[in-house]
Amino acid sequence: MKMTIKITGEKVKNREERKPPESILFRYIPGKSSTSSMQNFMSWRMEKLGTGKIENKMPSDEREVKTFHDKELNLYIEMAAIDDIIMHCSLMAEKGLEALGFLVGNLYRWKKKGYEVVHETVTGELESTAVSVKFRRDAFENLFDKLDEIEYDYVLIGWYHSHPGYTSFMSSIDMETQRRMFNREFHVSIVVDPVNLELKTFRVSNEKCIEVPYAVFGEK
Ligand SMILES: [Zn+2]
Repeated sequence: MKMTIKITGEKVKNREERKPPESILFRYIPGKSSTSSMQNFMSWRMEKLGTGKIENKMPSDEREVKTFHDKELNLYIEMAAIDDIIMHCSLMAEKGLEALGFLVGNLYRWKKKGYEVVHETVTGELESTAVSVKFRRDAFENLFDKLDEIEYDYVLIGWYHSHPGYTSFMSSIDMETQRRMFNREFHVSIVVDPVNLELKTFRVSNEKCIEVPYAVFGEK
């Protein structure tokens, strides 16, 4: 399939030279920023989106893998994309389901440093049960079809999924998904817990799970 090649193929287009976004609304640096700053950001957005408080905690046997921290910011997410992710994860959590989607954006470069921007997300109706949504290959295939509708020359930056009520981390099954589907050095994984108000971003490098900083930008 064409899109699969786009993810894992050898050729990645050259990064466009562009100054990183400046209208930063929220920044999270793992190991440095406080959890409460993240929770405040999440509840601010959920209030704006009118999703209300989510209390539907779901059981899970996912366990956190050993995770390292990176302090260098090179991931920027548009506010509209963050809102879509939070909305999707919240609505699904209310139904007792997990959410899954793709991160669509572009690769840029500024002063010899590369960075990634998530401009939008792609999701589909996933007819999966709560526990199997993220492991099913056909769930991903549905999303590939949606990518065909995007008109600009996008790059798939990674994926997001939710952990309703069991905090934001990468499990071994998440690591496996990342390795299988998103194995470029720029690929990221966003894990959202709409119950505990957590949103963290991860990369996998040399088999290691690394939590990375992110910045949300855009208009308030
Ligand atoms: Zn997970």
